[in-house]
Amino acid sequence: MKINGMPPTTMPSLAPVAILSALPQEQRGLINLLQNPRKVCHASRDFWLGGLHGHPVVLALSRIGKVAAATTATALIERFGVGCIIFTGVAGGLGEGVKVGDVVVATDFIQHDMDASPLFPRYQVPLYGKTRFPCDPALSVLLFAASQDALSHESLAVHGFQQASVHQGLIASGDRFVCGAGEARQLRQAMASAGHDVLAVEMEGAAVAQVCSDYRLPFAVMRTISDRADDSAHVDFPAFVQAVASPYAQVIIKNFLELLLKK
Ligand code: SAH
Repeated sequence: MKINGMPPTTMPSLAPVAILSALPQEQRGLINLLQNPRKVCHASRDFWLGGLHGHPVVLALSRIGKVAAATTATALIERFGVGCIIFTGVAGGLGEGVKVGDVVVATDFIQHDMDASPLFPRYQVPLYGKTRFPCDPALSVLLFAASQDALSHESLAVHGFQQASVHQGLIASGDRFVCGAGEARQLRQAMASAGHDVLAVEMEGAAVAQVCSDYRLPFAVMRTISDRADDSAHVDFPAFVQAVASPYAQVIIKNFLELLLKK
């Protein structure tokens, strides 16, 4: 259901909740929990419809990169009439103190590879007059609470991540897997000098944010930090997703949907 003209702060109750995962390993556990699952193929993608923790939901994979994620988000809105989008995935930690095993809940998004200067200011999305696209504050509050609760959970205290914390702030997206300490530092400094203090970097969120802004659709995003965007960022990436990010996402989504029911 679209809510044209309304500020993105409330969610129509009957419209399904879209749960967007970045990687198949993260999505598998959610599909297994679906009540009355039904798979629909559309736009060369699989969408899973069903019930989850008391809500009608549509599960989808964003796929990797901004264009793929924008297509998935648009299909969720146009074809499946979702009322909001919740995104779970992994990201590289850029901000000081944002470490592997932590969770970042996004306040807003920026595209670190957007550069139409000198026609438009660096990082500004041309013809939008905007550089940063905000998440829905009400949904983000719930997602933050859901994440905090999940990380305090015994069974998620994976070895080495007992001190995991939940952060809230700006996430940068771009079509590049950032895996060099120098590159990560440069990226962070360049954005900071333009007034943008980035906590984490990934490859899809800003695209989903822009689509949701176009449609006035509320959305919220959590990312588990899988790496520090440095030279070892690629090491054991699939193993981390399997062992840490996937169980995190499952518990956080469960907590989130339960909190949403109480609203
Ligand atoms: N190894 C994976 C590919 C992962 S690509 C595979 O085989 O399918 C990286 C994914 O993790 C993207 O969805 C991106 O959003 C996120 N990500 C994690 N760390 C990142 C980093 N350092 N830079 C950019 N994206 C990162």
